[in-house]
Amino acid sequence: MSRSVFQMELERICRGKVLFDESLLEHTSFGIGGPAEALVSPADIADLQQVLTLAKRETKPIFVIGRGTNLLISDAGVPGLVLRVNQACSEIDTSDGRISAGAGVELPRLLQFCLQQGLGGLEFAAGIPGTVGGAVKGNAGILKAEISDPLLEVDTLNVNSLEFTTLKKNQIIFEYRRSNLPKELILTVVTFQFYPEDPVNVKTRIEDYLKTRLTSQPVGKKCAGCVFKNPLGYSAGQLVEQAGCKGMSCGDAVVSELHANFIINRGKAKASDVLKLIEKIKERVNNVTGIELELEIEIVGQ
Ligand SMILES: Cc1cc2nc3c(=O)[nH]c(=O)nc-3n(C[C@H](O)[C@H](O)[C@H](O)COP(=O)(O)OP(=O)(O)OC[C@H]3O[C@@H](n4cnc5c(N)ncnc54)[C@H](O)[C@@H]3O)c2cc1C
Repeated sequence: MSRSVFQMELERICRGKVLFDESLLEHTSFGIGGPAEALVSPADIADLQQVLTLAKRETKPIFVIGRGTNLLISDAGVPGLVLRVNQACSEIDTSDGRISAGAGVELPRLLQFCLQQGLGGLEFAAGIPGTVGGAVKGNAGILKAEISDPLLEVDTLNVNSLEFTTLKKNQIIFEYRRSNLPKELILTVVTFQFYPEDPVNVKTRIEDYLKTRLTSQPVGKKCAGCVFKNPLGYSAGQLVEQAGCKGMSCGDAVVSELHANFIINRGKAKASDVLKLIEKIKERVNNVTGIELELEIEIVGQ
């Protein structure tokens, strides 16, 4: 297939990995998603700046993807550039008791680092499969703790102005499964303050969290975690179960029998199947309980 001028220029300037018309199915935990016009993993920050400069000149939209574990990508795919910072922002540094992790670092790797260093405060994240950047953007967590708790500051790069800014925790609003970090900011590095802890205790807590997940969630299945946010005072999973939605399906998208707030792709589910199933669940829950469920997963693409 012949390359457009934009594609040739992107390949020329980017020292990292560039894939055109790349199916995003392989890049999401749902195993669902149409193609990205270009999926780009810049080699380092300078490379990322070059790519952003070109995207701006060519007025290409930009979407940053982490591990794709909280996303439902549309069947039509994503126009413009889908950017990954897994190569450009992959370091973990420690100084003065602070830990700075690249936004592309996966949470399980950061957790392993904390265990090796004898640091406590991140154990709650055991079993959350995303990157540091994705976790901070959506304030990932569990009932008792969230990623903003140990966070000190976030380094960002603005896709429009190409300016770097460091935001202190008190400059960001973190709420239940959301932050007010604007779309035009790419998170590059996140600095945390963990506390010294006996590695034996860290390991025990990690194992306890993982054990709880194994018995209550469809671990290992193609899914994107909890589909709906818990409405104040309620568990979304219990509401979905109460409305009789367990096992309900659309195509290959099915409501988990183990945890009703998980939709599983049992084979070749399309985004359109998941969206139809979501609508059916919302309607049933609303009819039975009068409560309007809100999405926790993010829908991306046309
Ligand atoms: C089995 C399973 C269990 C889960 N359990 C939990 C749980 O207990 N608690 C919980 O909160 N979540 C859970 N999740 C959901 C998901 O893992 C988290 O939301 C995770 O933090 C998303 O990270 P990610 O890297 O996959 O982000 P993605 O899904 O790729 O992206 C999420 C958002 O972050 C943005 N983003 C990603 N990286 C950057 C960056 N560098 N700069 C700017 N924006 C960025 C994206 O643009 C998007 O808006 C679970 C998911 C699965 C599959």
